[in-house]
Amino acid sequence: MPLNVLVVDDSNVMRSIIVRTLRLSGLPLEEVLEAENGREGLDVLSKHWIDLALVDINMPVMNGLEMIDKVRQTSEISDLPIIVVSTESSTTRIEMLKDMGIGFVHKPFSAETLREAVIELTGVTLNEPTSNESL
Ligand SMILES: [Mg+2]
Repeated sequence: MPLNVLVVDDSNVMRSIIVRTLRLSGLPLEEVLEAENGREGLDVLSKHWIDLALVDINMPVMNGLEMIDKVRQTSEISDLPIIVVSTESSTTRIEMLKDMGIGFVHKPFSAETLREAVIELTGVTLNEPTSNESL
């Protein structure tokens, strides 16, 4: 079943890279929606069915950790699969996220790393020949 994906990052450039990487990944995708902070991300989640969210940590208005807290407290979306895509380097924080069942991809990332994280978290299988193009 193709995934509806939400990409939340305050950088236009980073969102473009993530969306492009997803599109080239061979993953089965339906819609890919974007938001530039946690507040906007929650707004998208309230209006669209999303199967997977890729979430930055450092963002203005509402950061990724605050957004994740809100998601986990909201019954309709509390079990949303989430991958944090961040420059975060605190192993303590990364372990905390993993303990919460949240994926983690370090920026900068390879196309392969992002794809593997999506597969690991969602269990989707590739349905097209994969591109070898990397960033
Ligand atoms: Mg950021």
